Amino acid sequence: MDCIFCKIINKEIPSYTLYENDYVKCFLDVNPLSNGHTLIIPKKHFKDAFDIDEEYLKEINKASKRILNLLNDKLKPVGFRLIQNNGNLQEVKHYHLHIIPNYIKNDKKSVEEMFNLLTK
Ligand code: 5GP
Ligand code: ZN
Repeated sequence: MDCIFCKIINKEIPSYTLYENDYVKCFLDVNPLSNGHTLIIPKKHFKDAFDIDEEYLKEINKASKRILNLLNDKLKPVGFRLIQNNGNLQEVKHYHLHIIPNYIKNDKKSVEEMFNLLTK
């Protein structure tokens, strides 16, 4: 299947991965809306919120808490937005949850710089 996120899971495309287990992968968005913008995806291909099964949804929720804590500790944002697009709003047709930190002032850093900051 020609799915960019399945390719990321299979390591055919590299990603700045912050956390992964048997169910999920959490990696930095290549085109972030703010520093630390992270995507959480199931390691099995589900199209969207209608398609995904509850076991994976639970694992995504668990991983989201882990990522929220990591970003909160390291980046000290003033808030977070969690977004999950479906249908016409969804660009990549493999379920993904966006974790988007919010800052009073976002000094835009490179994704690589953010990865180093978040993993050291
Ligand atoms: P959507 O609009 O489908 O909810 O968001 C898709 C997101 O995936 C976008 O924020 C986009 O920047 C991100 N994205 C698309 N292709 C890649 C990629 O190859 N690597 C990474 N890390 N993010 C990607
Ligand atoms: Zn996929």
